[in-house]
Amino acid sequence: MGIFDKVKAVGKEVGIGLNAQEQYQRAYGKGVLLQPPDYSSAVKHFSKASEMFLQEGNADMVKLAKANAALYELIDKRDLNALPEVIQVLEPITEIPCIGSQDEMIQTSLLIAELRSLQYEQQAKECGNYADMTLEYMNAAEGFMKLGNAPLHISERLRLEGPVEKAVLRAFYCEGLSDYYSALSIIMSSPVQAHDHMQKAASSFRQAMVTDWSKTVDDHIAKVSSKSHCWMCGREMQGEDVFFKYYPAETEDYHTQLLESSNDDLRMIDNAGHVTVCTVCGSAIENQADRYATMRADEVRAWADQLFEQTTNVLKNHNERLCSLERVAHRH
Ligand SMILES: [Zn+2]
Repeated sequence: MGIFDKVKAVGKEVGIGLNAQEQYQRAYGKGVLLQPPDYSSAVKHFSKASEMFLQEGNADMVKLAKANAALYELIDKRDLNALPEVIQVLEPITEIPCIGSQDEMIQTSLLIAELRSLQYEQQAKECGNYADMTLEYMNAAEGFMKLGNAPLHISERLRLEGPVEKAVLRAFYCEGLSDYYSALSIIMSSPVQAHDHMQKAASSFRQAMVTDWSKTVDDHIAKVSSKSHCWMCGREMQGEDVFFKYYPAETEDYHTQLLESSNDDLRMIDNAGHVTVCTVCGSAIENQADRYATMRADEVRAWADQLFEQTTNVLKNHNERLCSLERVAHRH
């Protein structure tokens, strides 16, 4: 090998004098295929390669290099707000190498479908109201369901909560979330309907095999389905902690007997030292108690302010006398 060839070889090793194809190849050799992979290096080399392909007028490779750069940047940064841009650069191409491979190809339509569903999930997290969350998660679920038993390609690398390996499991997970938020959106107007939605959510979470969510929803179901009469107004209410609460109170066996003899609802005192009170009666009592407490606190404050003022005046008076005494003492 001559001296110029040697210089060229060294140059290429550090990335100087590469052509576009070599630059593209470098994204794999110095990024994707490293153990562990260096995705930020891959992004850098794919981006550089796309510029070089542009100069060479190779439009197809420009698109491919750009799409790869966007995908690996998504995986590297895990910024889900970038999803719309990633989808946009994937759309003009039909096939792309699988993540982590150079030879195995995948149809971009599959990736786009996965990313669109993830985008719906992201929108659900950001929209901030239960009704919209219900819709966004339902859209995400429909997208994942269309992918059926296919494996997911990107979700696992984004460290998302919930199932990330199979599309169908993530579909059930999103369906569960949709029903869960639907239950929350409706609970104040209909605990009965909220109960139905919670039950659907529970069944979806079981199918998705997400035990933490199953437990959360089962706890909600127990509360939203429970009923009791209000000790104060006597109305039957459904939904513990929503439409009735347990308030501390003195209850004895005698009260149980009274309820039994009048065929009244024993659930009102099924928690020792408490009675169930509906949230209307309970809030009326609490608000009134708050008003009294505030009035009393204001009275105490006025009394204390007056007292402090008197004490301050006395101290000031003493101080003045002391000063005048000192002045007299100095003169002698
Ligand atoms: Zn009541």
